[in-house]
Amino acid sequence: MDIRIERIAKTFDRYPALNDISLDIRSGELVALLGPSGSGKTTLLRLIAGLEQPSAGRVWFGAEDASSLTIQERNVGFVFQHYALFKHMTVLDNIGFGLRVRPSGRRPAKAEIRRRAEALLDLVQLSDLGRRFPAQLSGGQRQRVALARALAIEPRVLLLDEPFGALDAKVRKDLRRWLREIHDRTGHTTVFVTHDQEEAMELADRVVVMSNGRIEQVGSADEIYDAPASPFVFSFIGASNALPIRIAGGQALLDGTVLDLPPLAERDGEARLYLRPHDLAVVDAGEGTIIGTVAAVRRTSGHRLVELAIGSAGDRVEVEVPASRAVSAGEQLAVKPLRWRIYRDTNAQALAA
Ligand code: ATP
Repeated sequence: MDIRIERIAKTFDRYPALNDISLDIRSGELVALLGPSGSGKTTLLRLIAGLEQPSAGRVWFGAEDASSLTIQERNVGFVFQHYALFKHMTVLDNIGFGLRVRPSGRRPAKAEIRRRAEALLDLVQLSDLGRRFPAQLSGGQRQRVALARALAIEPRVLLLDEPFGALDAKVRKDLRRWLREIHDRTGHTTVFVTHDQEEAMELADRVVVMSNGRIEQVGSADEIYDAPASPFVFSFIGASNALPIRIAGGQALLDGTVLDLPPLAERDGEARLYLRPHDLAVVDAGEGTIIGTVAAVRRTSGHRLVELAIGSAGDRVEVEVPASRAVSAGEQLAVKPLRWRIYRDTNAQALAA
């Protein structure tokens, strides 16, 4: 089922939660809505589900205008962060619930409901736990039951709102891989909300980066990481540094020093140089290098993250150096950008290295 979101706006008591959102989701695609708290991810998901009505614009399910469809007719499967399974029902009864409450004409026979619930229990790899009650399951197992329950109604679209948000890091990682496998096997069009960039990048075919009720960029993990369309996307996806520079005659000046970068096509004016910590190399001090004083050093698993204070304003940049290199606070280091992007302060156009 293709979903088309066409120029959607949503206002709550005059507060604009979504502004002019357009997005095409292809049938069978796994799409992540990624953004900080309050960026409008859940509101967009609820609009697709029919739990909210747009203030303007339309949602299309294939060729059908979804506004003419009731929530039941939209036939979406929903999994929330804290999906309340029915406590008094066994796992199997929870999974079959959506089928049991169908009107009699569309309700499968009891034995068929049981057969389908058991097949789904197999799919989510909990075959032995069908007779347990939710309180007898771990958090990760409960979310798997919630997913089986959402799949039981054979939804046209699967919507997941931070489905693993309440689980610990290790379980989250396992469930991520597992969800991807289930998706590839069942082929549902799936939209999931997360504020965890790693989760979005690892799981999704395409990531929709949202901020302030708008879409900043839609793309594959590679596209949003390697070619961020705006300073917001650059900073939100992965670690980043931003240094104020001035562009004059195709050269970039940092604190009055001309940086050793190839000629820039950018017109003169103020701009920002965006760099990832691993895109700065420690070099011998020389013309055009960036020199700073080590303010702090942190050990991460495979590297050291060195915080350098640069220029008269003491702007900070983080540089990733190999763990084998000893670095101490107070030391002077020279670095050179290997890759970077320049964003104008006035517009979000990027000049890639
Ligand atoms: P989070 O990651 O914190 O869940 P989100 O990106 O999912 O955030 P939304 O829940 O979609 O964000 O909320 C977007 C904005 O709309 C927020 O500022 C929120 O306060 C506001 N909002 C959402 N629902 C309502 C509502 N029912 N009434 C009023 N304002 C709302």
